[in-house]
Amino acid sequence: MQTSQTSSSNFSSPDKDDLIVVTGAGGFIAGSLVRYFHDKGFTKIRAVDKKPLPDWYQRVPGVESLSLDVSCEANCKRVCENAAEVYNLAADMGGMGFIERNRIECLRSILINTHMIEAAYRAGARRYFFSSSACAYNTDLQKDPNVRALKESDAYPAMAERGYGWEKLMSEMFCQEYWAERGMKTAIARFHNVYGPHGTWDGGREKAVIEAKDLGYKSIDIWGDGSQTRSFMYVDDCTHGIDAITHCDDLIATPINLGSSELISVNQLVDYAEEIGGVKLERRHQLDAPKGVAGRNSDNTMIHRILGWEPSTPFREGLAETYAWIERQYRDRKAGKRTVS
Ligand code: NAD
Repeated sequence: MQTSQTSSSNFSSPDKDDLIVVTGAGGFIAGSLVRYFHDKGFTKIRAVDKKPLPDWYQRVPGVESLSLDVSCEANCKRVCENAAEVYNLAADMGGMGFIERNRIECLRSILINTHMIEAAYRAGARRYFFSSSACAYNTDLQKDPNVRALKESDAYPAMAERGYGWEKLMSEMFCQEYWAERGMKTAIARFHNVYGPHGTWDGGREKAVIEAKDLGYKSIDIWGDGSQTRSFMYVDDCTHGIDAITHCDDLIATPINLGSSELISVNQLVDYAEEIGGVKLERRHQLDAPKGVAGRNSDNTMIHRILGWEPSTPFREGLAETYAWIERQYRDRKAGKRTVS
């Protein structure tokens, strides 16, 4: 899917033979980012993840792929050697269930972010990107499903999501201070939910619908009452946005939303998936299951003002692409072939 071009005037791109380092590359977004840079013609890309190589969601031919744990300082040094730009997306995360139950693991991502930013600085990297999250926002502002969209200044006074959100906020601060004290150009995007092909699909609603269709189930389980709202950004918008934000000098060390502003409830998501799959299912709401904040949306005023662009793939369109990919994965798994999750 094509994303529209950004129109900022204060935009500088690296040379195509500069070394680009991407961490978390065995996962969903960073894997897509590696492919994005590769397809743009970058010839030197180093992709890093702690997962063993056969477990990476995507492997891009011609890319140096390293299986290393970047919570270890010595590995970060190796990873950042000769890097012109570093995109640090590695983090232990696995959806709302994981984030709520594994706060210590989430907090420990601070090791990744402290070592990576220092190593990037010491290696003389010209730009450093950090993937923050909407979970860094004050949770008190998100108690109502009809929440007003979150704008960048809503992170302070701080009351971030326990564990994961606080770690993100702290790591944002590192980015701000490496620019203020040491002059390294850093970029910080607060992602709102990202979806698309090459992500985990096993626990998702799309798979639940595909499975119900395949096995003849009549119902689907939904965490919470289904009224909780989120915005969902298609992964191609995310990779384009990361590139645009990182290379915009008006956004150095400035946290900015990267998310769609199209608000969707979980119930609506299931409606769409049913429509695409051509089935209708009874909904069983699990009111005790983790469901996160009631509502959350991205205020895109700032990104629009500065980049003249915002993530705009309509959810229904991106979901159809994703559904088709998941359906292929589902069939491959049934046929005994290797799949992403
Ligand atoms: P993902 O889990 O698919 O990918 C993260 C990858 O990081 C995994 O492959 C994991 O193995 C790797 N990793 C974890 N610890 C590591 C370590 N110590 N060393 C090396 N690799 C390590 O997650 P994702 O959805 O692609 O998320 C990428 C980034 O975007 C993360 O920082 C996440 O917090 C952020 N984010 C994602 C979303 C979303 O909707 N997916 C929303 C907000 C923020």
